Amino acid sequence: MKDYLSELNTQQRDAVVYTDGPQLVIAGAGSGKTRVLTYKIVHLLSQGYEPWRILALTFTNKAAKEMRERVEAVVGTDNASKIWMGTFHSIFSRILRTHADRIGYDRNFTIYDASDSKSLIKSIIREMDLDEKVYKPSVVISAISWAKNALISPERYAMNRDIMEADKRAQRTLIYDIYSRYVNRCKVAGAMDFDDLLYYTNILLHENTDVLHHYQGFFKYVLIDEYQDTNFAQHLIATKLCAESNKLCVVGDDAQSIYSFRGANIHNILTLKSTYPTLKTFKLEQNYRSTKNIIHAANSLIAKNKEQIPKHIFSENELGAKLEVTDTYSDYEEAVVVAGQISRMHMLKHDSFDDYAILYRTNNQSRRMEEALRNRNIPYRIWGGVAFYQRKEVKDAIAYFRLAINPNDDEALRRVINFPARGIGDTTMSKLTAAAMDAHVSIWEVISFPDRYPSGIGTAALRKLAEFKKLIEGFNQLNNESNAEQLASKIINDTRLMSLYMSDTTPENVSKRENIQELLSGVHDFVSDRFEQGNSDTGMASYLSDISLATDQDSNDMSAERVTLMTVHASKGLEFKNVFIVGVEEELFPSLMSCDTPQQIEEERRLLYVAITRAKEACLISYAKSRFKNGQTMPTRASRFLGDIDPGCLHLSSGTMINTTPSINPVGNYWAHNTNRQNYVYKTSDNGHKQHTNSAVAADGQTHIVSELSEGIRIRHGRFGTGTLVKIHSNEPEPSITVQFDLTGTKKLLLKFARFNIL
Ligand code: ATP
Ligand code: MG
Repeated sequence: MKDYLSELNTQQRDAVVYTDGPQLVIAGAGSGKTRVLTYKIVHLLSQGYEPWRILALTFTNKAAKEMRERVEAVVGTDNASKIWMGTFHSIFSRILRTHADRIGYDRNFTIYDASDSKSLIKSIIREMDLDEKVYKPSVVISAISWAKNALISPERYAMNRDIMEADKRAQRTLIYDIYSRYVNRCKVAGAMDFDDLLYYTNILLHENTDVLHHYQGFFKYVLIDEYQDTNFAQHLIATKLCAESNKLCVVGDDAQSIYSFRGANIHNILTLKSTYPTLKTFKLEQNYRSTKNIIHAANSLIAKNKEQIPKHIFSENELGAKLEVTDTYSDYEEAVVVAGQISRMHMLKHDSFDDYAILYRTNNQSRRMEEALRNRNIPYRIWGGVAFYQRKEVKDAIAYFRLAINPNDDEALRRVINFPARGIGDTTMSKLTAAAMDAHVSIWEVISFPDRYPSGIGTAALRKLAEFKKLIEGFNQLNNESNAEQLASKIINDTRLMSLYMSDTTPENVSKRENIQELLSGVHDFVSDRFEQGNSDTGMASYLSDISLATDQDSNDMSAERVTLMTVHASKGLEFKNVFIVGVEEELFPSLMSCDTPQQIEEERRLLYVAITRAKEACLISYAKSRFKNGQTMPTRASRFLGDIDPGCLHLSSGTMINTTPSINPVGNYWAHNTNRQNYVYKTSDNGHKQHTNSAVAADGQTHIVSELSEGIRIRHGRFGTGTLVKIHSNEPEPSITVQFDLTGTKKLLLKFARFNIL
């Protein structure tokens, strides 16, 4: 084993070699917390700890994978593969499967993803005849998720006066009822959602002392990364598991706590000392990841938060470039500018596209970015749930896989009972559902025993149901005898899922076939990986378990170099040479949904702190002055957080260049130059020289887009439609324009309020 301790600084080394008892490493971004955890595992192995007695928990699969690779590099694949290393969800689903019978589940339970949960909640709301406007599925789901993460059962939910009062005020007095039905329906369907994996682990350990004692004796060391984002359920599991060994090592950074909306509780870190009186705290201070400018910018931003543990963090790396803050005219243009910047930097720096990441606040910002990258032929990959496994054809195939291991899985059954079409219509489905609900059994049960559960379905439909039953039973049978790969090919073949898309060669069909092919090669890789690791569990249940927890993984080919696109949340713990943070605007970052309380604003600020500290060398921030939202273009403003960062480490530039349709816009290219928070607007003439033109700065300090305007250009207004700009009134106290609209006549619009797009 190589001399790993020499690769650590003194503070890190102290934290690694300390093995006397519970320990907390609290330190800022990039200071080597994850490195300490990784090296600590290596250290434990060198001290004679058996690998299978070490439990290491991370937040994302990507983090677990990276940690495993780093450990492998030092101790070899054999040892590394035996460590219990993974996300909370993947490790605990493994434990739950082993003891499923103790909590009333079959070991082949299905894991419902977010869309399964939502569709089940919706159908319950409908059955109960509730108003979807009052009982919004997304609100109900978060209420249930919150309850589960706080380990509150439906019964306790109904008894808790505070919650009931809150529900009453919101006129949602029946949430507990929906919650209770939801839990029962999941049970009948042999399914667990993500929160259940933690909820039931707690129940398992709480109600079965023999199981608890087994794991308490089994795991000799528990290590947890990103502890600031654990919720109550996770905190409790961790505490229970190391109650006997007392060997716990958690690392975290309160300034990066960004999951409170999922019940994460920073107090889990703060109260560790009272749970473990002998807790020893370690601090790390040197950042190895980023340039001085990046660290300084991040520190100055987070200093604006009131709630935080004081920390000193410094970098001995070089000063580096200032953070580039670019504004653009629209979100469309922002994407074009960012793609252009990546392309230029890539050419100048001769680095790999893997060194680039584009981070955004919300998933739906990715589409415009994708378009712009595609237009420039820049390869990219998206990390995050919605990618591969959410595509229709992939979900259909997976629904059959799920039925093959668990035919009681109602959501999977609903999805494919009539796909490919086999004449089982909505009426039949309603009758089946009603009969299943009345008898508190799954739909499959009703189909299997039509005499026992009369549903009023006619003989023709019954015959079709019997055929469907036979098909699924065949898969069930095969599941017992074969590995995931054999079963998957049989299913794709027998259901004709692939041949469905053979009929013509439209690009959509070709891509659907490719996706199914890709899914099959994924199953193949799974089986061969397991085989190579000497793991004989190559069945469909394990495969499904793997992929349903692979929310932050992409099945795309990982070998080619690509720009990474992801939400800031998903970027936690990762690092990239060049980071682009896009859409840094009010109502987006901070999000409109998180602007109500100072606590929410602080969490959004921490989120931007996380984003900035992902960067090693270059950090480029951008915002657009108008954004297409809810079907119209709305004016937007730079995020308040930009004003929190020390201006000394920022370089404010402008990327605006409305030249997308030069033939219509006769005046040529424009760009706004932005210095020291005052907005000066320039127009670039054809020879490239800047000329100062009319700038309209409103009372709130925001530039309006008068610079991009000229008489004769065509615009589209949100309400009045398309028209021609006939006059600019820039010398009036409130700059305005007169527009001759094609259908609605001539109108004078105050620029401050006008919402329009230049065509
Ligand atoms: P985050 O808060 O973002 O999760 P972290 O504290 O976990 O960050 P790491 O990811 O462990 O930090 O380390 C940041 C970078 O610094 C990594 O590339 C790591 O390899 C490097 N690094 C950490 N410590 C050292 C060291 N002593 N010598 C050289 N490089 C180091
Ligand atoms: Mg880390």
